[in-house]
Amino acid sequence: MTDTAGNATTTSGDEPVTMMEYFMQLEYSDVVSAPVMRFRDALMDARLIAQQCPKCKLVYVPPKGYCPIDTVELDERNEIQLADRGVVTNYTVVTPVQYYGQKETEPFVRASILLDPPGGMLILQDVLDIPVAEVRAGMRVEAVWAPKGERDVDEIGNRSGSALEGSLRGFRPTGEPDMPAEAFSDKVW
Ligand SMILES: [Zn+2]
Repeated sequence: MTDTAGNATTTSGDEPVTMMEYFMQLEYSDVVSAPVMRFRDALMDARLIAQQCPKCKLVYVPPKGYCPIDTVELDERNEIQLADRGVVTNYTVVTPVQYYGQKETEPFVRASILLDPPGGMLILQDVLDIPVAEVRAGMRVEAVWAPKGERDVDEIGNRSGSALEGSLRGFRPTGEPDMPAEAFSDKVW
């Protein structure tokens, strides 16, 4: 018995075929939703937008087009502008393993950022311009946008989440006093 590549898949012709190995390639094309297209346009303009549910008031960034809690459809009428500064609520120090293709060599931070009112949470953000050991919850930060002309949102699709590196490089400390944990501890993500 052979597979489509001509490789033997069984050792005996009497055994039923239960497994085959072959190489295949799949190409996905994902039609980007209207809310995400608007989100991408805003990023190119160094702005963050979101949708806010009129019922539960939760802020969805990137916009989803619906609130899964209330099963309410959201559209441009529910769109809000977000601040591009906020506070580090929690973070992880990632120590890169040196596998083939790894580009990172030094430990780095991925942080959750609670944006100033009207709110919104970005996860997995880079924290720039500060040693890893000095990053802390409560630290005030501001967005570092890629320069106009270098921004790229091609990678942002319907399931990209907060991976915005092509336009929003990360966040850096503002130098303002830290916020007390009580100010954000109910919003840690
Ligand atoms: Zn809701």
